[in-house]
Parts: sequence; C-alpha cells; structure tokens
Amino acid sequence: MLKKWISQALAVVLRPIKLFPELSEADNVRYKVIFLNNVFAFSGFVSLSMGIIRWNLQPFIGMVDLISAFIAFVLLWVLYRYQKNIELIASIALWLCFIQFLTVFFVGMGTTTRSALLLLILAAAFYLKGRVTGYYMLAILLVLVISNHAMGIFPSEYSTMDIISLCLYLLAQFFIIRNYECLRESQTSHLKALNTDLEALVKQRTEQLAAANTALEIEKENLKTLSSTDHLTGLSNRHHFETVFAEHTPAITRRKISDALILIDIDHFKKINDTHGHVLGDVVIKSVASCIKKYSRISDITVRWGGDELIIYAPRTTLKQATQLAEKVRHQINAMHVAGVGNITISAGVAVLHPGDNLSLLLQRADQALYQAKQAGRNSVYAAALD
Ligand code: GH3
Ligand code: MG
Repeated sequence: MLKKWISQALAVVLRPIKLFPELSEADNVRYKVIFLNNVFAFSGFVSLSMGIIRWNLQPFIGMVDLISAFIAFVLLWVLYRYQKNIELIASIALWLCFIQFLTVFFVGMGTTTRSALLLLILAAAFYLKGRVTGYYMLAILLVLVISNHAMGIFPSEYSTMDIISLCLYLLAQFFIIRNYECLRESQTSHLKALNTDLEALVKQRTEQLAAANTALEIEKENLKTLSSTDHLTGLSNRHHFETVFAEHTPAITRRKISDALILIDIDHFKKINDTHGHVLGDVVIKSVASCIKKYSRISDITVRWGGDELIIYAPRTTLKQATQLAEKVRHQINAMHVAGVGNITISAGVAVLHPGDNLSLLLQRADQALYQAKQAGRNSVYAAALD
C-alpha cells in the first residue's frame, strides 16, 4: 500500500512540465544557443570581476576565477563559431564545470556565490545534455557536500543553511534534467510512431501497386491470347501464324530436317452450310479443329487460316511424316459423326519448307497439292513434289 502511494506521489512529482511549447528542430537549437550564450557570458563576466577582486586577497582562488572567466569566454566563442555542435559544446562545458566545482569546493571553501554561479552553468549544461551522466554527477556532488558537512573531513565554512540551499539547487537540477529527458523521449516516440505509420503506408501502397501490376500483366496476356486466337475454334489465327512464321523462318531453313505444312479443307462445306445452316456449319468447323488439335504434337502450330481452311504446321517434320499425320487426321475425321450433320470428309495438301522459302511460296505448293486432292475426288491427301 505504502509502495503504491510512494510510486503515485513520485509519478505526480516527476511528471514533466513543458518548459517550452512544441518547437521545430531548428527553433529548438536556436533557443538552446541563446540560453547557453547567456549562461557563458554571465558566468564569464562574474568570474572575471570576482577574479579581479579576489586576486589580492586569495591569489589562488582569484586565479581559478580568472581561468573560469577565460574558459567561459572561450566557450562563448566556440559556441558562436560552431553552433551546430551545440550538444558537444554543452558536454565539454558540463565536464569543465564538474571539475571546476570540485576544485573550488576543496580549495576555496565556503564560496557560496561562486558555487551558485557554477551550478547555474551546470544546470545549463545538464539541461542541454539531458543525459543520465547528469544524474550521477549530481549524486556525487550531493553525497560529497552532505558527507563532508556531516563528517568534517575537509575544513568547510558552509553553514547548514548553505548546505540545504545547495542541496535544493542540485535537486532542482535533477528535475530539470528529468523534465528534459521525458520531453525528448516523448518526441522520439512520436517520431517513431509517425515513421511506423509512414512505413505501413508505403508497404500498403507497394502491395497495391504490385497487385495492380499483376492484374495488368494478366490482362495483357489475356489480350495477347485473344488477339492471336481464332474465336470459333480456339486455334491460332492467321495473323498470329504469319507473325510466328516470319520470326522463325530464318532459323528453320538452316536446319537439316525442315518444317512441314498441311493445308486442310473441308469437302463440300458450302453444301453443309446450305443444308444444315450456318450454326451447324460452325459446329463442323469446330469438330474438325478439335480433331486436328488432338492428333497434332504440342510443338505443332494449328491454325484456322480462314473459312473452312485449317493448317497444321509441323516443325522438324519430313514430307513423309507430315503426309502420314495428314492421313491419320483424315481417317479420324472420316470416322467422326457430327450430330445433326452426319459424316464429313476433308482433303489435305502437304508441303515442306525449302531454303529461301517464304510463307506464300510454301502455301502455294500446299494449295496445289490440295487442289490435286480435290480433283482426285476429295477425301484424300496429296503431297507436293519435294523440289
Ligand atoms: P470444296 O469441297 O471444294 O472445298 O467445296 P466447299 O463447298 O467447301 O467450298 P469452299 O471451301 O470454297 O467453301 C467455303 C465456305 O465456307 C464458304 C463460306 O460460306 C463458308 N464459311 C466461311 N467461313 C465460315 C464460318 O465461319 N462459318 C460457317 N458456317 N461457314 C463459313
Ligand atoms: Mg471446302
């Protein structure tokens, strides 16, 4: 219970008091510089006048005063030149004051005015530094002053009142440091929170962007497939085949085994259309296309060239192999029964790619072979002469 009360009381006492309103980083440095400037100037002039007065009475203490004045003015100049390094300057001032205080305390004895002045500098340095070191320094000074007064280890001219006021000074500084640290912590955590929010936002945006990108890629692929496919049969369309052929022919013609092309045409398709209608005509084209697809290899390109004309483009295939494939397809189609139409037949012309060939030359030879097949009574396969 007592522990709870003490911790509650401490929480109230130690609650940081906002000395300045929220400042920007630049303003913060500016205020610190002004504050430290005043402290150095004030302590410099007081130490100088004290040194001059004391020089004849206590030369050693007078000298310490003059050195203090010199240090204060040097610090003032350094601060003027290197404002950006204010934290480092405050740190140096802190250590100098600590050493100075100890020197005056052990040698000067009872110079309360100077102690107060030094403490003012200490307070400034502590306030600006706001480091844990400040606590330890204050603790050392407190223990030193109180224990020396109680035990009389070193001769001291301080009265009990002086010691109490000194301790109050030191305590006041403790609260100043604590206040500064709390403010600094709250600012840091605020900044951290802002940073985390920002990071989360960036991550979210990146993910959204990646998702949009993927969707776009898929859409692009779909469009590409759509533009290269024949809608009715799902085979490659004429434009796509022409593009692929143009891209690959130079490499193909250099190969030992060339590529073969089988041009397939449905027999009497006009009649099928006329008798059964266009819808069933479409069904016939689709059935032939799926049969072609089924019996061709993965590496073959199956194309709807236009109307009832379809192509199997077979890479690395001899005329003989291509003719066999065409015969197989013809057989399968012949054996097929299209609902509502009955049996259908196809004719095919086969040709292989010659060195220096282009697509129209190759097609021309295949077309001539096809013509022969039609002339021979249809439902047959003809191969173009090899040269
Ligand atoms: P042949 O045996 O000599 O080839 O005679 P054919 O009647 O099949 O003559 P041809 O190959 O010239 O006929 C092609 C017909 O295909 C002409 C056209 O009306 C029809 N056609 C073209 N495109 C389509 C289509 O997408 N759907 C349907 N149902 N018919 C089409
Ligand atoms: Mg036809």
